[in-house]
Amino acid sequence: MGIEFENLIRLQQIDDELRELSSFLENLPAQEKDIDKKIKTATRQVDKAREKLSLNQKRRRELEGETQDLREKIKKYKHQLNEVKTNLEYRSLLKEIEETQQRIDRLEEDIIAKLLEADEIEEEIKQVSAEVNQVKEKAEKEKQELRQQKQIAEEKRNQLLEEKNQLTPQIPPEQLALYHKIAAKRQGIALSPVHDEFCSLCHMRIRPQVINELKAGQTIILCENCGRILYWEEATEEEADSAKQAVKS
Ligand SMILES: [Zn+2]
Repeated sequence: MGIEFENLIRLQQIDDELRELSSFLENLPAQEKDIDKKIKTATRQVDKAREKLSLNQKRRRELEGETQDLREKIKKYKHQLNEVKTNLEYRSLLKEIEETQQRIDRLEEDIIAKLLEADEIEEEIKQVSAEVNQVKEKAEKEKQELRQQKQIAEEKRNQLLEEKNQLTPQIPPEQLALYHKIAAKRQGIALSPVHDEFCSLCHMRIRPQVINELKAGQTIILCENCGRILYWEEATEEEADSAKQAVKS
């Protein structure tokens, strides 16, 4: 029985592609997670700015409350002015009023500073929100793209699996078994093409006698070094040309 090199080679190509597609598909949830993380990070910036604003507003209300209390105090002092009996008491009350008014003035300055700060924070919120929207828009596009890629990969995988189902019965069981045995040990790669005089996967030099046998294609020959099934592959025209160029120069 001849060796089904052509089918074995195709099987290897299918398995290689399936492996790539699987690792791509397995990696997709992690990519989606990364995108979600970007959105979360951006949104957190807005939350932070909003928190800053609410702290600012809370502080301003406190300052306004203090001011209000002090104003009430002044009212009371002014009322007391009418009732004092001595000059000393009178002057002392005036002094209290003056000092309290100074405290009010300072508080009002603080309130104005808080108001200005609030304007800045609101501006910041506006800016960061716009950035978040951009990030979200971009992320949505990226996700959409991933979904498309996923669909394409799944379709491709189904096609390949179908082809594989039709292909494997055409390979003699012992050849298929050998293929699977080597593939299991060699990260899924059971076949190695021989270019020039080398096993293309482990770069072991192949003896000329073996190369002749490979060209005949009648027996299975394993690479003495990596144990893979060797097969002869003619150099493409491009490779042959560059080889000729190398000889000339
Ligand atoms: Zn090898």
